[in-house]
This record gives sequence, structure tokens and C-alpha cells, in this order.
Amino acid sequence: MEVRKIVVLGGGESGVGAALLAQAKGFDIFLSDRGSLAESYRSTLQDAGISFEEGQHTEERILTASEVIKSPGIPATVPLVQKLRAQGIPVISEIEFAARYTRARLIGITGSNGKTTTTLLIYHLLKTAGLNVGLAGNIGDSFAEQVITDTFDYFVLELSSFQLDDMYRTHLDVMVLLNITPDHLDRYDYNFDQYVASKFRILQNALPEDDFIYFAESQPILAEMARRMPSVQSLPISLTTIASPGGYLTDGQLIATNREQSFAFAQAETPLRGPHNAINMLAAILAAQSVGVSEEVIKTGLKTFQNAAHRLEPAGAINGIQFINDSKATNVDSVFYALSSMDAPVIWIAGGLDKGNDYSQLDELVGQKVKALICLGADNHKLVNYFGNTISSIHETQYIEDAVAQGLAWAKPGDVVLLSPACASFDLFRNYEDRGNQFKTAVTNLIMNA
Ligand code: ADP
Repeated sequence: MEVRKIVVLGGGESGVGAALLAQAKGFDIFLSDRGSLAESYRSTLQDAGISFEEGQHTEERILTASEVIKSPGIPATVPLVQKLRAQGIPVISEIEFAARYTRARLIGITGSNGKTTTTLLIYHLLKTAGLNVGLAGNIGDSFAEQVITDTFDYFVLELSSFQLDDMYRTHLDVMVLLNITPDHLDRYDYNFDQYVASKFRILQNALPEDDFIYFAESQPILAEMARRMPSVQSLPISLTTIASPGGYLTDGQLIATNREQSFAFAQAETPLRGPHNAINMLAAILAAQSVGVSEEVIKTGLKTFQNAAHRLEPAGAINGIQFINDSKATNVDSVFYALSSMDAPVIWIAGGLDKGNDYSQLDELVGQKVKALICLGADNHKLVNYFGNTISSIHETQYIEDAVAQGLAWAKPGDVVLLSPACASFDLFRNYEDRGNQFKTAVTNLIMNA
């Protein structure tokens, strides 16, 4: 029998993992990356004897594939992908490929914001329960590579809409949809409906016994689409009404009911602040209940959870002025929740590469909480134009040290200086981590020299 030929496009964590899995399963495998590979990935491929190219895509070779595994970073609109589709060659994601080879139960998390926090929290809750669980998707080690040995009973998968776009058959046992707000519209023809449809692909293979956990108030369309979805155990989350079965927040208590299990715990006893984190925690609690984790264990897990850096991360304090690093807030919706989480007057540091932001949803919160704005971007005119009439103190800069120093100069004891940019970082920084790290360093230096 002819050996099936798999081509992997993109040689990052997921692509290299997919190539290793394909090789382990006996496929003829070729990896192609138009850029250059990181040294560690290059040597992994060489050591495994996998043939690859970098700096180009050799089309004749790629077009002979029986199936192509595409990195989520490559848009579906690039000519090569269009050609593959035109020739009827299936293009799938690493998740779709890897899911064929695992016997683990899969918990998938998607949404415009909160995916990483919720994914890490579900993983932590299952680990706290002593379950044999792996972490993959948009986070950590490649799913495909972990599936080569397939030692886990559960996988918690963070799924971006780009990954969902190339998923067709993967069956998820528990599905979490946190929210849908405009982001990445550049990859969806600036068409919000297309982006929504992409997120709802998480449900495409749901069975009646599976659990679907979702925040019903994110967009009116969400509740509407959830009503039209396939038959599934529906577990809505609400911040305004009782959702049972489901999860809700009342008087600071996180309440969750999933099948026969109930749960109640004060958010104040957890390390995660703000209404958005109440949603994330409720989603994680419901998911943990879905796989049978007990109330006591969930409480222990919530108390001991440490979130990833750059998400409302305390970065230091001087003279009663707190600095908070929310560099991961790269869209307006996450800033909305960051500001909602603040009890003190805010000196707000924002700006960067604007992805078509509409700042109007921040009007009320900015009016209530923001006393000054520091614009940190190569081009700040949009922020300055929008907030020029409402915020009296505005400072523009391209230097993070200057932004932090100006924050300190404007703040009074009890205030917060919040980096929550609403924009991507690539104009001045390598990525959001670099921006957050430079912010933390600048704050540390300020504290040392104070
Ligand atoms: P993602 O992986 O989807 O980007 P993260 O957990 O990394 O999500 O959080 C990204 C940003 O979004 C953070 O700045 C955080 O403050 C904000 N955020 C987190 N959870 C939510 C939520 N449920 N709704 C809206 N914003 C959120």
C-alpha cells in the first residue's frame, strides 16, 4: 500500500510536534517553513531524520501531499493554502491530526479572551484532584508530540479560532466558550459573523452527553446561537441571573451546579480578581465538575492557583501606588474587564498596534476610574483623538521607562498605574511578554531608585 504523504506547513511548536507524530505513525513526512526555524526545532527535526525546508515553500512538493497540517499562524487566504484547497487536498490543524491518536478525554477552551487563564485553571484543578492530565493547544508543549506516547487520561486544550478553523472531526467531551468579542477580524474579512461561526465550530461534533459551558451574556448572538446548537448538556454562566444548572456570581459567591454536584465559594478567597475572572473560574469549576472533581478539591485548587504572568499581574508598589502589568490585554474587551476589576483611581497606560479598536465601550468606565492616560505606542493619534476631550491628563511616549515614571509622577497614594494596552505590542516590543517584562523591570528600577 502506498504510504500517505503528510506535509506540515510551519515549523514551530505545533508543526514540529505534528511532524514527529506523523513520523511515529509511519507517514511519509515533509515540513516546510517560509521563515527560518528556531535552532532547537531544526535540531529536533534533524535528529529525527525528518526532511524539511526553510526560507521557502517548494510548491511542487507540497502539492503532492495527501494531507496538509497547517500552523495556526498561516492565514487560510495565502495563495499556497488556496491552491491546496483548490486541488482538494485536506488542510487540517495539528489538534485535528493529534486527536486521531489519543484515547484521552478532551476538554477544549475557546473564546476571544480568558482562554489561557481558564485552561491553566482547569488543568490545575484536575491536577489537584490527582487526575492524569496533560495541557496543550495554544499553550505549552505540542499536543501532537504528547500524543506519541499517549499516557494521559485527560487533555485540557486551549483552542484559538485559527485552530478551530482547521478542525473537522475532533470530538471534545467538554467544551468551553468564554466569550466572543471582535478580535482578529483582519483574518475573517472584517466579518464578525464569520468569526462567531469559527468559534462555534467548537460544538461541531458534540454528542448529547457532552457538556457545553459558555458565558451567555458575552454577546446577544451567543445565547441565540447556543439555543440553536446541537443537543448537548448546556451549562450557561451568568453574572446577572441565576443559572442552574450552570454557574453564576451572587454577592461575591461563585455558585455552580453541574448535574448532581453543587458548589459555592467566595471569590475573595481566590487569587483572581474581577468579573472576568469570576467567569473564568465558573467555567473552570463547571469543567472540573464535569469530570467528577469534588467541591473540596476544587476549593483547594482555586486557592492555590497561580495565573500566568502579564494578566493583571502585580508588578510592585511605591508609596502606596500599585503598578499592575496587564500587557496581555491586547484588545478593548480585556481592558474593559481590567478597568472593571480596579477599585482605585487609575493611571492608564495604553497603546501599541491598533487592530481596529472601538473605544466607545470603555466610555463609562474611563469616566469613573481613569484620571490620566499615558499613550505608549509608535502612533498614538487614535487614542489621543478619542480620549482627548474626556481625560484631562494625557502623555505620549515611546519609552516604557518614561511611561512608568510619568505614572508615578501623576499618581497619589492609593492609586493604581495599570498597563492594559488594548493593542498589540509589535510596534515597540517583540511581543506582549517583552512589553510586560520591560514594564516590570522599569517598575523595579523605579522602586530601587525611589
Ligand atoms: P487569552 O488566552 O484568550 O488571550 P488570557 O487568559 O491570556 O486570555 O487573558 C488575556 C487578557 O484578557 C487579560 O489581560 C485579561 O485581563 C483579559 N481577560 C481574561 N479573562 C477574560 C474574560 N473572561 N473576559 C474578558 N477579558 C478577559
